[in-house]
Parts: sequence; structure tokens; C-alpha cells
Amino acid sequence: MKAMTRKPVKRFSTVNLLPRERRRRHARFAAMRDTGTILTARGAAALALLLSLPACLEAPSPPPRNVVLITFDTTRADVLGVYGGDAAVSPAFDALAARGTLFLQAQAQAAVTPVAHASILTGLNPYNHGLRTLHGNRLYHLPGTIPTLAARLQDLGYDTAAFVSAFPCSRRFGLDQGFEVFDADFGGAPEARIGPAGNISTGLAQRDAAATTESALRWLAGRDRERPYFLWVHYFDPHDPLLRPPVPRQEPFMDGFPRFSEMEEALTRDPERFVADYVKDPDLMRSWLRRLYRAEVSWADTQMGRLFAALDADGGLEHTVIAVTSDHGEGLGDHDWWGHGILYQEQLHVPLALAGPGVPRDLLVQDRVRHVDLAPTLLHLAAGSDFGHKVDGISLLPLMTRRAAGDEPRAGELPGPAYADAVTLMRYGAVFDPGVSEVRDDQLYVWIDSNLKWIRHRLHADRSELYDLEADPGEQVNLVPVRPRDAGRLDRALEEEHPMTAEIDFSLPEDDEVRQRLKSLGYVD
Ligand SMILES: [Zn+2]
Repeated sequence: MKAMTRKPVKRFSTVNLLPRERRRRHARFAAMRDTGTILTARGAAALALLLSLPACLEAPSPPPRNVVLITFDTTRADVLGVYGGDAAVSPAFDALAARGTLFLQAQAQAAVTPVAHASILTGLNPYNHGLRTLHGNRLYHLPGTIPTLAARLQDLGYDTAAFVSAFPCSRRFGLDQGFEVFDADFGGAPEARIGPAGNISTGLAQRDAAATTESALRWLAGRDRERPYFLWVHYFDPHDPLLRPPVPRQEPFMDGFPRFSEMEEALTRDPERFVADYVKDPDLMRSWLRRLYRAEVSWADTQMGRLFAALDADGGLEHTVIAVTSDHGEGLGDHDWWGHGILYQEQLHVPLALAGPGVPRDLLVQDRVRHVDLAPTLLHLAAGSDFGHKVDGISLLPLMTRRAAGDEPRAGELPGPAYADAVTLMRYGAVFDPGVSEVRDDQLYVWIDSNLKWIRHRLHADRSELYDLEADPGEQVNLVPVRPRDAGRLDRALEEEHPMTAEIDFSLPEDDEVRQRLKSLGYVD
């Protein structure tokens, strides 16, 4: 596999952590703490000796930095205040961006929850990490052989904990790898049954951002303070209308539109009338959905703000690198698509902000960066380390440092072209109307080089698309007829990066071992 080709391990020079030595030091300090708070003369002498020891053994090094990664599910960049949206939606995100670095052009590598998260957590494009789909009985699980950010930080002596809010981030998809604590407690809600073709509904297996935050706060309060930690918190509220904020938190965004509970009542009372009044009027539906959507993002942002406030009160912020992004965006009616799963920019352009020690303050980065760059950047910032093998992303710290100084990046400091794919387009985002399903018989591959974006339709090549994202950010004018050479150039580059010659077979033969295992778990009939 291309990304796993072993190359000589390159280490960043600032800090070279020695976990065993650090653990020994932690043990010494823990022992010291346990002997009591009053220092006797003997204790003071011992303390002086202890403090002198590390200096004798190695050059002084800054303490390792904690890492907090927050992922908002299904959150378009343009809904947040700092990206030109309503400032009332995202005060916590906007404040974080103001005290750190905001990336104006960050790209997801997929618009499907587990696939995109796997790229965030491994630094690998989907064809290299192997988790390709949400639905399906094959290629939905991150192989145990793929190193994750959590596993790497664990090796470096970190405590690791994840608090996720929905089934698509659960253990089933292998996203728990490297986490000692993996909390996916959805309050006993039953998982949706997975059909023979592997199509699932996220259904009830999700929880509110407030509940996820409570669990994360409990863990933070009880953690071992002698050790650095990596905490991942995933919020699902914006994903669909099932999770919605308390009514008073919806009101400021609804602007006279009916609240969700009223819509539900109307649907129950008279489904035909409901469809006639709402669903059949796309403009009305879009307008209403966007209001509810902003309320949901705002609710998750509020909960993230609680988390930051707790870190601040604890004095932990100065030792903590924080990264906030989303896994992908949402159609909300753009390109005639309500949900996600396809690859237009309302789905792939994600928010990304970093803050904390080592992160330039008050910096806006215009350069296009990718989800696969996030894990290498966090490893670099937190521990001065890397994955120890080649990944598809690069650390963005050199780029940030150059831009903060007003300099141009040097060779190798700018991320390369951005890749994304959608290899199964099954049923997504039907809103209320069972007759509306978003099914496309196709496989999509994206290659963005500079401002040109190529969308290869693998099964229907004649539908492939080319857009100039600078001149046409809304992707309305397909340039294939007028710029065929550019289309060919990007297609060749994409093919070179990831040959798409083999069919991806998602079918599951009878008597297959995987099928039997799923059957025994009650996942398939
Ligand atoms: Zn998602």
C-alpha cells in the first residue's frame, strides 16, 4: 500500500520524547506527592536531588502538551461566524479561532462520517486507511494494522479518551483504536438493524452534545494529572433533526418558522397536508432546515464552550493544543441534495481552527489544507513527533510559522492536491418524505489542484465535472466542455495517485466468515 511504504523515520527536532524516562519521572513525582505536602528537611533534600536528576540525564525539554480534538459532525464551514455565517451560531469556535490559527480552505477527504473521521485520525486518504463506506458489509472497518493518532500518542505516554455521540463513530468502525477510554454510551438506545446489503440507519443510536460533554468533563476531572492526555470529543447534533436543542435554544434561530415539535405534530396530524405545505416547496423546506441546522450547530458550539471553560478554570489551557473541525458539511438543498455523502464544496469544505501552545495567534491561513494534515500537525505540536512512517498528510506547523512571520512557504511545506472519494452512494438524507431518496448509481473521486476541482464520475464518465473554485465557488459551471485539457490533466493526476481500475465489490458471498460473524451479532438477517 502506497502510504505504508516504510521510509527512514524522520523526527522533528524540538522534543524527542522518551516515554519510559518520562514515566519514571512521573512515578517519582507521584511518590513525592503521596508522602505529604509538608516538606521535611530530608524531603527537601530529596526534592533537590530529584529536580537535579533530569538535567543530568537529558537536556531540559518543555512538558508534553495535552491534545483536545473536537469534531462537529455534518458542519459546513460557511455556517460558522468566522467563515461568514451568523456570529450567534459559533461564539466558542470563533473565540478559539481568534486566539489561534484559522484555516480558511480546509478539505475533508470524504463526506461520510466514519470514512472522514478515519482520515482525520490516521493522516491517510481513504484508499490507504481502508475504511471506505458507512453502509456495507465490507470496507466499513478501519483495519487494526493502520496506526492512529491515538495509538501513536499512547505510545508516547499519553492517556487517551474518546467521547463520541453516534453510531457511525462507534467501535463497529474501528475508530476506537488507541483509546483506553472509548465512551459511546447512547443511553441504551438500540442500534438500527443492519440489512443484508449492509445499509444501516443511524437511527436512535446518538446522544445530545450536552450528554457527551458531561461524560468528557467527568473524565477530565478524574484523570491522572501527572500524565499528558489526548481527548477526542465528537458532536452529532447538526447531523439530522432527531437531535435538537432545547426549545428556548431553537427560538433565536427559527425567526418565526415553526419549531420542530410543531412540524412533527403537523406531520402526525395530516401527512398529506404536511407534504403539500412543506416538503413540496423546496425553498420553504430549505429555509426552515437551515434555521434548525444553525440552532443545532449553535447548541454543539455552546457545549464545546463549556468544555473550554472547564479547561480554563483548571489552568489546563496553556498546556493544551486544541483542534476543532467537522468531518464533512451538509447539502441543505444545494446541488439538489439535502444530506451528505457526495463531494461538492458544501460537503467537503470544513471548518478548521487550532489554538494553544506553539500555535500562531490571530492567524488566517488561505492555503488549501486537508484533513489528512491534521494528525501529523497535532503530533508535531504536542510532542514534537510524527507517525514514524509516511502518511498522506504533512505537518502544517512550518506553513503556519512562515505565514505568521509574513514569509512564503518553502518547498514541501505546502500541502499537495486534495483527494476525496465517495465509493458508495446509497440512500442519504431523505427529509420526511419517504419518496425522496438520494440514491445515485455512481462512484465519485475528487482531485483539487490549486483552484481547479475535478470530480470523476467513475461509473458515468460523461457526467464528470470540472470547476474553478475561485471564480465559481458554488460549482455551478461545469468547465469540462471548455477546458478539456485541464480536465484530462487532473484526471491523469488522480489516476496516478489512486488507480481506479478495479471495481470495488461490496457484495458479501454466502457463508462468508464476516457474514457469519455479523449474523451472530444480530447485524444481518
Ligand atoms: Zn458525519
